[in-house]
Formats: sequence, C-alpha cells, structure tokens
Amino acid sequence: MTMQYEKVTKQDVERLCEICGEDAVLWQEDISPDYSHDELSLERFAPELVVLPQSVREVSEILAHCYERNIPVTPRGSGTGLCGGAVALHGGVVLVTTKMDRILEIDQENLVAVVEPGVLLMELQAQVEELDLFYAPDPGEKTATIGGNVSTNAGGMRAIKYGVTRDFVLGLEAVLPDGRIIETGGKVMKNSSGYSLTDLLIGSEGNLAVITKIILRLLPRPKRQLSLVVPFDGLSQAVSTVPKILSAGEIPAALEFFQREVLEAAAEYLGRGFPHSGAQAYLMLSFFGNGAPELEKTYERVAEVCLKNGAHDVLIAHTSDRQAALWENRGAFLEALKAMGDLDEVDVVVAPSQIAAFIEFTEHLRVECGLPIVSFGHAGDGNLHIYILRGELDRDSWLNSTKEVMDRIYAKAQELKGLVSGEHGIGFAKRGYLQESLSPDVLELMRSIKSGFDPKGLLNPGKVC
Ligand SMILES: Cc1cc2nc3c(=O)[nH]c(=O)nc-3n(C[C@H](O)[C@H](O)[C@H](O)COP(=O)(O)OP(=O)(O)OC[C@H]3O[C@@H](n4cnc5c(N)ncnc54)[C@H](O)[C@@H]3O)c2cc1C
Repeated sequence: MTMQYEKVTKQDVERLCEICGEDAVLWQEDISPDYSHDELSLERFAPELVVLPQSVREVSEILAHCYERNIPVTPRGSGTGLCGGAVALHGGVVLVTTKMDRILEIDQENLVAVVEPGVLLMELQAQVEELDLFYAPDPGEKTATIGGNVSTNAGGMRAIKYGVTRDFVLGLEAVLPDGRIIETGGKVMKNSSGYSLTDLLIGSEGNLAVITKIILRLLPRPKRQLSLVVPFDGLSQAVSTVPKILSAGEIPAALEFFQREVLEAAAEYLGRGFPHSGAQAYLMLSFFGNGAPELEKTYERVAEVCLKNGAHDVLIAHTSDRQAALWENRGAFLEALKAMGDLDEVDVVVAPSQIAAFIEFTEHLRVECGLPIVSFGHAGDGNLHIYILRGELDRDSWLNSTKEVMDRIYAKAQELKGLVSGEHGIGFAKRGYLQESLSPDVLELMRSIKSGFDPKGLLNPGKVC
C-alpha cells in the first residue's frame, strides 16, 4: 500500500494539546532522540510529534484526528523492541502508552488481572506475586510494557512450560485507526464465539489497532524453585541433551543455552563472575514445584541425563538469592553484547528437534565467514537468538557480511521448516524475510486483514507484511 501522508502542522499540535494537555505533547526540539529508535534497530527515524495519552478516550480522539488528517501513527510502549516496530518509518505521530500505567484490577476469585497497556512487566509480576499469584510469561526485558508484550506476543524464558504471552491474554480493549473503540474476549477461560479478534491483535505490532486495556490470566504462585547450571564441551552437545531431558518426563520452567563467549561478556558487563567458567557451552534450567522432595527427585533425574550426555558437572542453586544472581546473568546477555559494539540479531524458531542441526549450521557459518557470531536462546522451545557482532570490522563491510549471513540463516530456517521470528516480531527489520517466507496467498490474506482494519494504511505503516 503506497500512501500519501500529511505532515504535522501547528494546528495538529494545538488539537492534540486540546485532547491530552500540553505536557503530553512533544514537538520539534522537545522530542528526545530516544524516540527515533528501539533497542536494536541501527537506523534512526525521527517522529514529527510524540504524544503520551492517559486514557482510552484520549487515544481514540488522537487517532480520529490523525485519521481525518491522513497522518501516520506509530504506537510505542517502552521502546525495548528488537526489530524497529516502534519507530516512525514515515514520520507522523508516535503514540506512547507509558502514562497509561494502572493495574486496574487483580481479581483473585477469577485469577485475572486487568491492566492498562503501559504497565511494566516487572510491576505486574511484583504486584501479583505479593498476592501469591503468578504471571507466567517471562520475557527477558522487564521494563517492557504489557502492551508491547501483547503486541509482539513476547515469549521469554518460561515459554517451554507455560506458553507465551498469547496464552495468557483473555481479552482486550483496542482503538481502531479511525478512533472507534472495540472490546474482544473477556474474563472468560473459554471462548468459541466467532473469529478470535483477540488473537489477531496479539502479535500485530501496532499495525491493526492501539491496545488500551488487557485482561490477563494468572496462576497460583509456585512455592519452590530450583535452578541448575550444566557445563558442556560444546554447544551441539549441550543442545542435543535437551530432548533427552524432556523425554525423561521433566518439563523445566526454563531451559536456556548459551556459549562461553556470551557468558564472559555478561561477567564483564556485570562485573562479577559466574559459578562456573571455562566450559564451551552451558545449559541453565529452572524447575518449579510445591515441595522440596519433589524438586530433589527432579534434580536427580535431570542430573543423571546430563551427566550421561557428557556434562562436566551439574551445579545446583537452592537459595532464592543465588538463583536470582544466576538468572540476572542470563538477563544481561543482550545488554552485555550490545556493550561490545554494533550487532544485529536473528530470532528464528525451529521445531525443538531441529535445534541441534541449526546450531551446527551456525557454528559452520561462523568458521566459514570469519565473523563473530554468538548465540544463546530458549533451547527448550527451539527459539534461537543468533547475534552477528561487528567486532573490529569497518561498518560497511560488516553490514554487507551481515546481510549475507542473515540471508543464509533465514534460508536454513526455511529449509528446516522454521519461522522468521519466535518472539521479537517483524517490525521493519525482518519484513523482507517474512515476505519471502510466506506463500503469495498467505501474504495476500495478511494484507487484506491489514486493510480491513486500516483502509488508509495509517497505523504503523511499513511494518510486518
Ligand atoms: C535486553 C532485552 C531482552 C529481551 N528479551 C526478550 C525476551 O526474552 N522475549 C521477548 O519476546 N522479547 C524480548 N525482548 C524484546 C522486547 O522487550 C519485547 O519485544 C517487548 O514485548 C517490547 O515491549 P515494549 O513495551 O518495549 O514495546 P515497544 O518496543 O515500544 O513496541 C513493540 C511493538 O509493539 C507495538 N506496541 C507497543 N505498545 C502497543 C499498544 N499498546 N498497542 C498497539 N501496539 C503497541 C509497537 O508499535 C511495536 O510494533 C528483549 C529486549 C531487550 C532489550
């Protein structure tokens, strides 16, 4: 869809100030350069105006005004996305949800939370845990908003046991590009009532509607947790142990893999060591349960499988402090790699049984291309994060080589019947790869859904499909 957009004028600024108040509108030199990028995209796109509404009414009036005026609008949460989803490719308005940050209700009878989109993941997790409840999805970046998590269908560390954000969204309130407000789903555990617009909006990356309220499913909080660190000689060996752990009947709450290089980067970044060093690759697992004997048995079974598969050792962390320190290390991986300089990433997902083949492929690629390629990710659910670092290379040669490496990685993912993104989404950075991976019929259907919601192509243009 090629669209002719209008530029933001002084009259538009005045109208948005009328809707939201002057403090909520940033224009020209008031706009921080932070709004020109997200956490990974290398390019910068400055918005013409940034607005921070506080209510669904304000969102609706902003969208209705921009629709009328033909001005593009890009929804944005905390801007922690990794594929350029929250940047204004075509200028216009960036609509930031971080002031819509109220937890409206924690309904202990129905195990449901109702939140505004700007609530931060870490706040929701902390608040429900105080009530002995549990919000199971656990994406790595805790300062992301729940609206962002829903819009990217964020995955994270506990997807292997509990599923992803989608599995915990029961209903939504959203504003359509022309300002109409809709509600989907509700506080219901089952829903077979027509097409699931809730599911369509989850993962739609701000391309169909602006999400203004979210109804989330909660669980009782597990009483105990145990974490394990398992060092191996190499990545292939570590990853090939995963199906054996799963077929031994143990589903961990988290099962992560990483390479030595990533661990070393995190140690340097955090300024503290890890309980083990020197191995080429690691698995890190956590198990939830309600009783110590139950977890003890789990540990014994998993340790036996790992040691039989060549693990050097199986280190155990019982106390909550030690476990928190371990997972903090894991949480710092991306930030640590970013601190080393430019990088680009791949977030492919393959069937868990194919993950070893994929890792072997990337190891060959690394040797063949001579580029610093490192990986870590969610071994249990087949979602790999592969990072191509610039290292000492000059920027242009690195960009060229990265493109070539990415093309080969995505071609391999397709050969193994994997998908372009497991959890970070498409944004604009992965759009070409998504288009290549879809059949013309599927792509056409996706585009007709987009134009059904947004006939003028004003909401987050240039993203997804
Ligand atoms: C260190 C680090 C670790 C990370 N770990 C993980 C991980 O483990 N798993 C994972 O899945 N992701 C991870 N991410 C990526 C990122 O945190 C997620 O994509 C997150 O869901 C983005 O939330 P946000 O609030 O920052 O959204 P933004 O980046 O602001 O926006 C993301 C997309 O959602 C849209 N959007 C945001 N809010 C709304 C709304 N209310 N209505 C409509 N559209 C909206 C935007 O237009 C954009 O397309 C990580 C990022 C970092 C930096």
